[in-house]
This record gives sequence, C-alpha cells and structure tokens, in this order.
Amino acid sequence: MEHFRVVIIGGGPIGIACGLEAKKKGLDYVILEKGPIVNSLFNYPQNMQFFSSSEKLEIDEIPFISKEAKPKRNEALEYYRRIVSSNKLNIRLFEKVEKVEKTNGSFSIATSKQSYTADKVVVATGFYDLPNTLNIPGEDLPKIAHYYNDPHYYAHQKLAVVGASNSAIDAALECWRKGAEVSLIIRGNEVGQRVKYWVRPDIINRIEEGSIKAYYNSVLKEVRPNEIVVDTPEGTITLENDFVLALTGYKPNFDFLTRMGVKLSDDEKKLPQYDPETMETNVSGIYLAGVICGGMETHKWFIENSRIHAKLIIASILKEEEISKT
Ligand SMILES: Cc1cc2nc3c(=O)[nH]c(=O)nc-3n(C[C@H](O)[C@H](O)[C@H](O)COP(=O)(O)OP(=O)(O)OC[C@H]3O[C@@H](n4cnc5c(N)ncnc54)[C@H](O)[C@@H]3O)c2cc1C
Repeated sequence: MEHFRVVIIGGGPIGIACGLEAKKKGLDYVILEKGPIVNSLFNYPQNMQFFSSSEKLEIDEIPFISKEAKPKRNEALEYYRRIVSSNKLNIRLFEKVEKVEKTNGSFSIATSKQSYTADKVVVATGFYDLPNTLNIPGEDLPKIAHYYNDPHYYAHQKLAVVGASNSAIDAALECWRKGAEVSLIIRGNEVGQRVKYWVRPDIINRIEEGSIKAYYNSVLKEVRPNEIVVDTPEGTITLENDFVLALTGYKPNFDFLTRMGVKLSDDEKKLPQYDPETMETNVSGIYLAGVICGGMETHKWFIENSRIHAKLIIASILKEEEISKT
C-alpha cells in the first residue's frame, strides 16, 4: 500500500492546482482522477466557450494564451494538460476513488485499482458527474440526454431543450444554427440572467423573431418516443419530438462526501461544512477545493474564484505540520 502525505481526489483544474502547489511546497502527493486529465472539461460541449477570460482560468499565474479573450474548451484542455505534463505532476488517471476511511488519525483510500494511505485528503471532485434529473415518465428513453456535445447530431430533427442557463441556451442556439427545429422549455418567465452577456441578446432575438420557440413558465411532464407533453400557462400541450436535451444543471456527489463524514447543511443548499480560511472540513485532515464547496449552489464557485483554494489548503497543511513539530 503506497503512502502519501496528501491524496488529492479529482484531476480537474482545482485538483491540478492543489497538486502543483503541493509539489512546489515539497509535499509528497498524488492526484487520483477517475477519467482523463480535466475530465469534466473534456465532457463539456465541443464548441463550448468559457465566460471567463483566459487569464482568470490560469493556475499559479502560468500564462494561458487563447485566440480570443474567452478561451474555447479545446484551448483549456491544451492548457491544463500542458501544466500537468511540463510540471510532471503525479497524477493517476482512470482511477476512481471509491472509499475514504479515517483510522487512527490517518486515511485509507480505496480506488478502482489499488489502496493508499494518506495523512491528508483533498476532495476536489466537482459537480459534473450527476445531472439534476427531471423524474418524469420517459426519462429513461434513449432520445433524452443530460449532456450535450455536438449540434450536428440534431440537424433536421425536432429538438426540445429544457433549461434557461448557459448550457441550455448554448445548445439551443448551436443546434438551431445546424438546422434543428428547437423548442425551449423554460420553468421561469425569462432566459437566465447569468447567461453570457454576449449570448443573451442572441437567444432573445431568435425567440422574438420566432426562429426558436420558447415556452416560458412551462414544465416538461412526459417524454414519449415521438412526442413530449408540456404543461404551459395555456394548458397541457403535446409537441412532436425526436430528441430532448434536459440541461437543468448538475450536482456534487453528496453521498461520497457524507460517507467520509463530511457534514452538510440541513437545507436544500446542502452546503458542506468547512473552514473558509483553511478549507478543512468537520473531519480533521479532509479538505475541500473547487466547485464542490458550494453544495447545490454550483454557480457559486468556479475556476476563476476557487483557484485560491489550492494555496489556502497547502498553506494550512504546512502550518499544522510546523505546529505539530514544535
Ligand atoms: C458549460 C460550462 C461552462 C463553464 N464556464 C466556466 C468559466 O467560463 N469560468 C469558470 O471559472 N468556470 C466555468 N465553469 C465551471 C467550471 O468548469 C467548474 O467550476 C470547474 O470545472 C471546477 O473545477 P473543479 O476542479 O472543482 O471540478 P471539476 O472540473 O468538475 O473536476 C472534478 C474532477 O474530479 C473527478 N472525480 C469525481 N469523482 C471522482 C472520484 N470518486 N475519484 C476520482 N476522480 C473523481 C472528475 O472526473 C473531475 O475530473 C463552467 C462549467 C460548465 C459546465
């Protein structure tokens, strides 16, 4: 069984930032990632463009050069991969952490490949693995997806997009531009206010000119092989339909956190308990980093504002070790 002072779970941008900081500060560490490097970003839509400008996605001030001010997914893959390679970070890919247990002050970590022990564990597992499901009849049909990749697939098809935030709006626009007949089903009464400022006018104009049909204050009730049922303010309607993209957000794996003893708030936000100065949770020796810190508020933390977690965590670990030596 291998031992590390720090085991970092998740090789997303923030897990990588933690690994880089640990390496710089001479801490023996490993990053365990269940997929490829920055797996979440790898699974983002092919043509996705970040809302952040590239310098705000930089780790440790390593320059991120992109063609436009706001980088595309492929450029981000290139950037984070180069950070891993050129810094020779100790990352193990396609290795899923299945269990973390605390025994006698240290941790045992079981993965899909082997077991480890560690003095400290950093959980940077993000939020992109579990979609918010609709829990409606027909949700298990193959024509409904919670992840969107390439608009080509939907060309000349009747596509319903559920949601009103960035992912849903990007998908609706792209697919319409590739020839899909798009219906947008929006629970509230408007396109999300957080939609990228240069995309929002585009979708509003497409809706106003009738190119994309938006159903506001509406809820998808059922998905059938050739149609969908939607509750609208005018009553329940049935629309012919080939595909549904239910882009209603994602949530962290709370079960994974609670199984290692991390407490969550009792309300619907499910905020994990941690000290914002050190990022240490109620389980001493387990730290949180990145988007997972926001619980169900998955928009609260993102790369731009959670890069700092890496430095806070490693500084806190080093300080604690200093104190225990004296
Ligand atoms: C479409 C879209 C656009 C976005 N645009 C921006 C933007 O412009 N600017 C910005 O700052 N943020 C943006 N975000 C948010 C940003 O991508 C996330 O906040 C960011 O990825 C968080 O990084 P992270 O390392 O905390 O989590 P993630 O990137 O999700 O990484 C978590 C990693 O943990 C791995 N993992 C999970 N469970 C396990 C396990 N049990 N064992 C091993 N590995 C595991 C996952 O495979 C994943 O690679 C966007 C998000 C989306 C969906």
